[in-house]
Amino acid sequence: MVLNYVIIVFMNIGLHDSDKTRFPNLALMKLSAYHKGLGDTVSFFSSFERYDKIYSSKVFTFTSQDPFLYGNSIEKGGTGYDLISVLPDRIEHVCPDYSLYGINYSMGFLTRGCIRNCSFCVVQKKEGAIREHADIEEFLRHKSVILLDNNVLAHSHGLSQIQKIEKLGVKIDFNQGLDSRLIDMQIAKTISRLKWIRFIRTACDNKSQIPAVKKAIENLAKCGVKPYRIFCYLLVDDIDDAYERTEILRELGVDIFAQPYRDIESNKDPSYKQKEFARWVNHKAIFKSTRWHDYKKKYDNLPELKAAGQLVF
Ligand code: SF4
Repeated sequence: MVLNYVIIVFMNIGLHDSDKTRFPNLALMKLSAYHKGLGDTVSFFSSFERYDKIYSSKVFTFTSQDPFLYGNSIEKGGTGYDLISVLPDRIEHVCPDYSLYGINYSMGFLTRGCIRNCSFCVVQKKEGAIREHADIEEFLRHKSVILLDNNVLAHSHGLSQIQKIEKLGVKIDFNQGLDSRLIDMQIAKTISRLKWIRFIRTACDNKSQIPAVKKAIENLAKCGVKPYRIFCYLLVDDIDDAYERTEILRELGVDIFAQPYRDIESNKDPSYKQKEFARWVNHKAIFKSTRWHDYKKKYDNLPELKAAGQLVF
């Protein structure tokens, strides 16, 4: 008689969150769920522990590399490392392990990709054209959900999922923003019926977008959405252009969040004046009390910064 044995070896998995921001890393939560499902032991990476396999995820390009990340088998992924690594489907489509970060809301993508190809954005390079990705029920386990779609309004699947979300009655946040150019009256009506965690987010990245942003705000207002519920990302590259957009958005009464431009290829830090402009906008007490031309005056007189070429207003 021949006995056949199957030996199952469980692994010790280390998950390394390279960015160490307060925002939960979705890829690591999926890897955690997948490996726990196989019976493996999963924990956050510690340089004092030995692992059979380490996964390191880095979402942002501006965070530094961890000098203490080492081990025999390390798999790296995320925009902070490269634009090509993706999770295999068997991991991509598991429900994330929300207990990894102890969060009480769900996270995921309904669509991937985008219809546009903005020069400052990596989404086309990383994800390509817009396409269906998942049903909300694949990852929805809470009464609130943060959706990371890049342009959900641009795909019929995204729109039908939004209708499903309305029926499910869960609170949402599209934290990458909604494309203002696509918020017509019909979409505005749908948006106004949804339960939002806090803000309805959009973006105004250059002056050419101002008419579309104005129209979207006007459509939403007709459906009862007050401007203060709208949060607008503002890319800060050329200061004069950013200033003009800021003052128009201030007039419209929306909440502005300025983001200094960082070139993905060179990964060069934003300039001092871009950072200061963003600080002026984002520090609400300063923004409400001080005009930009007064705010920047104190820096105009710092000779050492001028000498370093960092202050050219
Ligand atoms: S619309 Fe948004 S996601 Fe799409 S390419 Fe432009 S910045 Fe990127």
